Amino acid sequence: ARVVDAGSDGDERTVEAALRPRRLSEFPGQPRVRDQLALVLEAAKRRGSPPDHVLLSGPPGLGKTTLAMIVAAELEKPIRVTSGPAIQHAGDLAAVLSSLMEGEVLFLDEIHRMSRAAEEMLYLAMEDFRVDVIVGKGPGATAIPLELPPFTVVGATTRAGLLPAPLRDRFGFTGHLDFYATHDLVRILHRSARLLEVDADEAGIGEIARRSRGTPRIANRLLRRVRDWAQVHGRSVVDQDAAHAALALFDVDDRGLDRLDRAVLEALCRRFRGGPVGLGTLAVAVGEEAETVETVAEPFLVREGFMVRTPRGRAATGLAWQHLGLTPPPGTDP
Ligand code: ATP
Repeated sequence: ARVVDAGSDGDERTVEAALRPRRLSEFPGQPRVRDQLALVLEAAKRRGSPPDHVLLSGPPGLGKTTLAMIVAAELEKPIRVTSGPAIQHAGDLAAVLSSLMEGEVLFLDEIHRMSRAAEEMLYLAMEDFRVDVIVGKGPGATAIPLELPPFTVVGATTRAGLLPAPLRDRFGFTGHLDFYATHDLVRILHRSARLLEVDADEAGIGEIARRSRGTPRIANRLLRRVRDWAQVHGRSVVDQDAAHAALALFDVDDRGLDRLDRAVLEALCRRFRGGPVGLGTLAVAVGEEAETVETVAEPFLVREGFMVRTPRGRAATGLAWQHLGLTPPPGTDP
């Protein structure tokens, strides 16, 4: 697994759970979403009724699950967690919906990956707090309406654009999470270091924050790798030295690029003279799936100004050439 992969696996989820902020007041970063959400939740609490459904969108590892849990904690209600891929049939969703308690929060991760039939059931449930349970098959089938207690859906998606408009419209509040500023990652890392009982100094934390692709999940993971390095090398403090050595070992360079990112840029510059080149061709050149290049490497490379998407394909910028220590051909964008 890549040390800078923004996704997470089973084991890591346990560590992550321990590092999640529990309340809005201890959630650093995303000031707009945080303030808007605070208002929506406070108003609902004063009215004594569940808030509008909440949609959270943005790249992986930025805190969508964390915020969903915070919504439940702030409302002092239980939370039920499931995901689009886990709901293959409308019946799966009916079972979840019909067992919700009043005011409960239903967290639907990867909501864009739900089946069409389940999606339609969800519209109705979100709007009218009702599901139609189908009894029987074929022409004799009948729909028996089942009333549900009011509840709040918190949906999360990495691709809000993939949600069908009728579903998107059922969410009264949509918050878009963006990559974190370095100073917010610094706050997150100080907090994580405290919870993990790691002694880390300002320079060490700063170095990790700068190389974390604006993503708390990556920041927390790099902190754990640097801690490992310090421990094995008999250093009592996570400092800049330890950060440099550990991140070099894991192939994370000073701009947060890892081996795949650099392979993409190398291929673009050396093999395709800076492009433009189609995504498929580029992916073959680095021996990866097109989807991996598109969802993992590209958003970061584009955001950091190493690569641009053009109608004719992907192209390297002057910054990419410079980062690789190569001379760009005349006419390359800066
Ligand atoms: P995915 O889409 O992959 O499920 P996500 O957006 O739901 O990702 P989370 O699971 O909420 O991301 O967060 C990943 C990790 O990053 C968790 O360990 C969480 O503690 C940490 N994290 C995320 N946002 C913050 C934050 N603002 N402050 C502190 N830690 C954070």
